Amino acid sequence: MCTQAVFRFAPSPTGYLHLGHALSAIIGFELAQRLSGRFLVRIEDTDNSRTRQHFVDAILEDLAWLGLEWEEPVWRQSERLDIYAEHRDRLRDIGLLYPCFATRAEIAAATRNTQLPSDPDGAPVYPGLCRGLSAYEISRRMAQDLPYALRLDMAKAIDVAKQKQHANQITLMQFAFDGNRRKMKLDPARWGDVIIARKDTGTSYHLAGVVDDAAQGVSHVCRGQDLEAVTDIHRLLQILLDLPAPVYHHHALVRDADGRKLSKSSGDTALYQLRRDGWTAAGVRQYLRGILNSYGINF
Ligand code: GLU
Repeated sequence: MCTQAVFRFAPSPTGYLHLGHALSAIIGFELAQRLSGRFLVRIEDTDNSRTRQHFVDAILEDLAWLGLEWEEPVWRQSERLDIYAEHRDRLRDIGLLYPCFATRAEIAAATRNTQLPSDPDGAPVYPGLCRGLSAYEISRRMAQDLPYALRLDMAKAIDVAKQKQHANQITLMQFAFDGNRRKMKLDPARWGDVIIARKDTGTSYHLAGVVDDAAQGVSHVCRGQDLEAVTDIHRLLQILLDLPAPVYHHHALVRDADGRKLSKSSGDTALYQLRRDGWTAAGVRQYLRGILNSYGINF
């Protein structure tokens, strides 16, 4: 049986989309079309301190302006916190999560002037402040209602995942637009004990994303190279939670004239601004033609 390919574009509404997002969305949409697959848009709005409704509206307007079509309803992760909590509890029940009461300031102080390694995003790896807390100490702090995040005990999690896979490596399947696939070795240990459930929302981008990719039957994840390293964590969670693994492709990033990767604060390349300045969707594709052509996307 040949199952239909499912692609998704999953922006966080914490800013306006820029040309880099346009590239991701266009590649995902076009590859879905080429494979007679489905294309979904998912709003990743679990960070409620930074999410704004006007960004959600602008994202959907920008995507429609680009000429993309997606299936309704558009999922919003803020409406699915209970589902993520169930998966979080499964990880906790098998002893892979522990509460971390440390504040950002305490973590920063503990990592300052140390030789601790940095994670692939350049942040110091969590120094394990709360890893060894006794059951007594945990219940004492909980009784005081101190806020806590839940962190993954990375060493234990990797062991469990390897046992489940009967393998001594955690791997991922990458796809190329020409249909070729390549197995890649991952290294989740370099991230340290990452947060799986934040203090405020009880979930994290990692957990919500893998749960939804599985729930929506996503078969192909196509996103920028800036998210390639974090796939270590996503693949690990899929194994631990018995979720099916999509295949992945991480495309080249759009850079500004100085070679810097675009960010949400680079207002000059925000799509809504380009729209106001009179750009057309064809103009956006023309601007991105170098990378799009390398995907065989011609126009
Ligand atoms: N929501 C993430 C972001 O906007 C992308 C998630 C993903 O594509 O897996 O950076």
